[in-house]
Amino acid sequence: MNTIQQLTQLDDLSFDNHFIRDLPCDTETHNYPRQVFDACYSPVLPTKVAKPLRVAYAHEVAELLDLSPELCLSEDFTEVFTGNRLSKGMESYALCYGGHQFGHWAGQLGDGRAINLGEIINSKGERWALQLKGAGPTPYSRTADGLAVLRSSIREFLCSEAMHHLGVPTTRALSLTLTGESVIRDMFYNGNRKAEPGAVVCRVAPSFTRFGSFQILTARRDHTLLKHLADHTISMHHPHLGIPSPTVYLAWFTEICQKTAEMIVHWQRVGFVHGVMNTDNMSILGLTIDYGPYGWLENYDPNWTPNTTDAEHRRYRFGNQPEIAFWNLGQLANALYPLIEQVEPLQAALNVYTTTFEQGWQTMMADKLGLICYKPESDESLFSDLIALLQRVETDMTLFYRQLAMISTQTHDDDESLILPLMTAYYRPEQLTADYKAHLLLWLKQYINRLQQDDNSDEERKTRMNSVNPKYVLRNYLAQLAIDKAETSDFTLINELLECLRHPYTEQPGNEVFAEKRPEWARQRAGCSMLSCSS
Ligand code: AMP
Ligand code: MG
Repeated sequence: MNTIQQLTQLDDLSFDNHFIRDLPCDTETHNYPRQVFDACYSPVLPTKVAKPLRVAYAHEVAELLDLSPELCLSEDFTEVFTGNRLSKGMESYALCYGGHQFGHWAGQLGDGRAINLGEIINSKGERWALQLKGAGPTPYSRTADGLAVLRSSIREFLCSEAMHHLGVPTTRALSLTLTGESVIRDMFYNGNRKAEPGAVVCRVAPSFTRFGSFQILTARRDHTLLKHLADHTISMHHPHLGIPSPTVYLAWFTEICQKTAEMIVHWQRVGFVHGVMNTDNMSILGLTIDYGPYGWLENYDPNWTPNTTDAEHRRYRFGNQPEIAFWNLGQLANALYPLIEQVEPLQAALNVYTTTFEQGWQTMMADKLGLICYKPESDESLFSDLIALLQRVETDMTLFYRQLAMISTQTHDDDESLILPLMTAYYRPEQLTADYKAHLLLWLKQYINRLQQDDNSDEERKTRMNSVNPKYVLRNYLAQLAIDKAETSDFTLINELLECLRHPYTEQPGNEVFAEKRPEWARQRAGCSMLSCSS
């Protein structure tokens, strides 16, 4: 029995707001948009709202904070995590950072609609930072309102938790609440302004520091503060690296390269497209952060991006994510250069990204195919042939890999029975021409040959494949269905999806409907196939 003591009131949370203790604060205390110099953060209070209402909370995240279920259902929980009250020990602030947006330096960005509440130490001694997204304007809001709408908040809440349960490094989401106030948005920037319900998500992570947190300091030639923030980050999150020195900064950057590579391998494994991989949206801890116009691959298309703002150049398309992470790390290397002052070792660290990604990708692909290990002589072409095949006709990525585990390595009566398990993965039966089927069969026979080299039963292989190939992901249309219902004040689907996505690799009788491929109505529907940054 777990004997960890659970808190029954938020005022009992144990805060240790080390970030704001250690690092310099903006001296201006009034909340208006401005450039903030010589500081890592600005003090700012969440804006009070009319009528907070709890929509959902994640009990696993509550447990990380030692919060009891009764507490999470209390009115005070809703008040605090919508921003109406700071509990004892909370100190609220917005972070200063910059970033490259779509490849161009954008200068200061910062927490324009995120307000940090401080860092708690839980009963296991772990440190967790809390942050409200959508709790009102900050000095970094520029011309925007600091608010968030229900649809984008549902997407962030559900996807953070779904990603965690898939085993992908990510920031977490404690709660989703409504503010009781409306927010005006022009969803597709086409003049159709509309009032939408305002919402707040409470995000939880060891740290919300981004690549851009360092970039802004170097851009301003503030090398003293750059060193201070780097030293703080190393001592808090990489203490095993030791006392900061140029060698330690390099080891730290190398770790960031590794962690980022591992995160991207996971994205490619599960078919997640972030949609806005700007350097301000890259976590220094290699966590998936800032769920905006993200999407999940339905038919396997490396050129797909969910983000309409990126439709022209497709910089952040699925197949380009590994390349973009490398580019972003290059920008971080530039930002950290003043601490290291040597190009070659930074370049060598960037090479660690490439090798970590490549090896990670090969192992991940081998795992997805149920191979015991990657064998370059056979598997390189096995993988590339498969990827070509997946793109040739509309093939649901998630269903394809899941169904591939059903393929038997034993003899088959005929070709049709061999490919039968894969048929549910195809969107357009008319595309399954004799020529396509011949290629698919050729590949399957190559695959079965390869499997027979491994001493592994079909049953064992299936179990291993099903532990890396999810059955349930937050399909774009499922999130949209939950949004449609929530906009009529029915939150049941949010909680049903949250529950289902807790066990993405497990067969869930009764929940098969959540594993179905995208229905035709969702093909071109806004929110399902197209998303904008308006959130
Ligand atoms: P994003 O790329 O969506 O993460 O946002 C880029 C920048 O815009 C960040 O600095 C955000 O804080 C800011 N931002 C986005 N939406 C809003 C908003 N509604 N109000 C204020 N700032 C915002
Ligand atoms: Mg962002």
